[in-house]
Amino acid sequence: MDTIMIELSVSRPEDILVGAISHLGYPGPEAVSDNILAQIDDGIDTCRKLARPEAICRSTAYTGLGKNAIRGERLCLETANWTRLATRMSGIKELSCFAITLGNAVDERISRLGKSAMLQALMLDAAASVLADLCADQIQQQVYIHYQRKGLKSSARFSPGYCDWPMQEGQRAIIPFLRPSSIGISVADSGLMTPRKSVSGAIIAAERMLAESPCFLCARDCRHRRAPYQDRARP
Ligand code: SF4
Repeated sequence: MDTIMIELSVSRPEDILVGAISHLGYPGPEAVSDNILAQIDDGIDTCRKLARPEAICRSTAYTGLGKNAIRGERLCLETANWTRLATRMSGIKELSCFAITLGNAVDERISRLGKSAMLQALMLDAAASVLADLCADQIQQQVYIHYQRKGLKSSARFSPGYCDWPMQEGQRAIIPFLRPSSIGISVADSGLMTPRKSVSGAIIAAERMLAESPCFLCARDCRHRRAPYQDRARP
């Protein structure tokens, strides 16, 4: 098991804004009134002041595929969709897991605002969700570069609770391997993390991969889709 060093920065307000508008259900910035836009900006500003992003990322040697499972040393990722993608990779070498948290201060402020200023709480919550996701994107990018230097490709990141990977099972696989308590993350039996604005996930590294996500093999109508379905690729 190796540690992959990750350096996180707090994303720019304009990058958080794009995601926050979408997270709040608006089709685009043109649909947001000036008044709401000012509230979103305040939420982003508060979020950037309070967030203390920390991450942990560990890799392990790949050991093989099971029935709907990708196995590494001391790690088993049970997801049929990602296993299906892995069967189309060659030279799988490593599996990496990561967790990122924005820290407790954001959660505490959202909770406090929720008692008296619901709209502010909502805007801060949206900004923090987007920032946590952007931090996970930074991890994915740094893992990509880590493996690129080894002549390997890396998959897109995938998280417990998304695609076909149940939250509870996914966290039970990742958390004992990753031990994210070192960055202040605890995980309930349900799989929910504290602080709430935390993201965990996994990445596959291989010599060759047809695609970075299994979406092109999957006909499901899913809002997390990352590539169009290719019917001819149906297994
Ligand atoms: S479309 Fe959705 S369910 Fe299907 S592989 Fe992609 S993320 Fe998973």
